[in-house]
Amino acid sequence: MIDLDIALKRMTDALAPLCMAVETIPIMDAAGRHLAADIRSKIDLPPFDKSAMDGFAILPGDHPESFGILETIRAGDTPSRDLAPGYCSRIMTGAPVPAGTGQVIPVECTEVAAERMRIIRPTRAPNICIRGEDIRAGHVVARRGDRLDPLNLSVLISCGIETVPVVSRPRVTVFSTGDELVSTLAEWGPGKIFDSNGPMLAELFRRHGAHVIARRHLPDDPGDTVAMLRDAMNGSDVIAFSGGVSAGDFDFIPDALTACGLTIHFDRIRVKPGKPMTFATGERICAFGFPGNPVSSFVMFHLFALPALQWLQHRPVRHRMVQLPMAETWRRKKAERLEFIPVRIVPRAPGDSAHPGESAASMAPLPYHGSAHLTAMQSDDGLAVIDAGISSVAAGDLLPFWPVTWTAYETAVI
Ligand code: AMP
Ligand code: MG
Repeated sequence: MIDLDIALKRMTDALAPLCMAVETIPIMDAAGRHLAADIRSKIDLPPFDKSAMDGFAILPGDHPESFGILETIRAGDTPSRDLAPGYCSRIMTGAPVPAGTGQVIPVECTEVAAERMRIIRPTRAPNICIRGEDIRAGHVVARRGDRLDPLNLSVLISCGIETVPVVSRPRVTVFSTGDELVSTLAEWGPGKIFDSNGPMLAELFRRHGAHVIARRHLPDDPGDTVAMLRDAMNGSDVIAFSGGVSAGDFDFIPDALTACGLTIHFDRIRVKPGKPMTFATGERICAFGFPGNPVSSFVMFHLFALPALQWLQHRPVRHRMVQLPMAETWRRKKAERLEFIPVRIVPRAPGDSAHPGESAASMAPLPYHGSAHLTAMQSDDGLAVIDAGISSVAAGDLLPFWPVTWTAYETAVI
């Protein structure tokens, strides 16, 4: 059994030669992909001095009783008349202002009668967006590793970007191992459980940028395991197993990985949940053996597969953790492993204000029956991390808090 930091170091070292290739694709097909290079704007943004309002463009400091109206400039038009003292041009939001415009008077501050405009409410705001005030041509507008979310896509499209270099998606095969697994209620019966890990892991991989090319059920049979693994190695960048990595008589995954030429970097870690976590690599492939218990699979995915996916996709590798105090006393009988426990964040009561340097929230442990208790994770805010060797935690003790939970996906924390 090895400590978590040693396991993570071994994984990082083993992943060093593995990195996804880069491809250039149309920006319109790039939603959700990760940039493989910094992107620079092709144009100034805004591309021309434009009106921020529907109104009337006038010269600076021009204050006649009323203005003659030269023309109407719509968005998409270009001005055809030069402004002159005593004259204005009617202009729409987003249209280029005539050269020399000092101000656009909003339509609601004006009155038009007999084709003459009068300012009824003077205003000082220029209401002009100046060319290049947001972005200058050649400036970096998105960085290597950034995900092309709706906002980034919109920025790049407005900057004239038509194609983008992106990281190829890691192709993943997910295996659910176990003779006890079924997928339909019709198959379900005594001793059987539903394969919940397979769909969960597939969705987690997908959410983090991977392309799940296959999801398969593996019976507890050594011959089938080797044959199906060999088959999956052809065309996958990542292989994930749920179950079959413990020390039971029917846990065939580690032997199958070795038989197929992969090197196992660890298969036991001093972490709860997740002791039999397995990680292996081949020449162009990496493999994760997640323990079958659902909480273990969920936590181990975030602990190992997520940073691995970040590395493979040229993204910054990180676990986001903050220090928070425990809300109440917590004890455990055995303290030999680092442990993750589900907690809920309790904000300070109103009026009970935090002193400088004190946290405004604390972590309350949730009822939790161990690594099969996935429903405990539905109502948590994340996990508290208790180091090996610590058997009791007092209220107020600071511990790392890791926002790994279902809800984190909704609030995009991870
Ligand atoms: P294993 O790691 O194969 O020894 O499995 C440990 C526990 O996790 C057993 O109770 C399994 O029934 C359960 N388990 C294994 N695979 C899955 C799965 N795909 N979905 C839900 N539970 C599973
Ligand atoms: Mg099993």
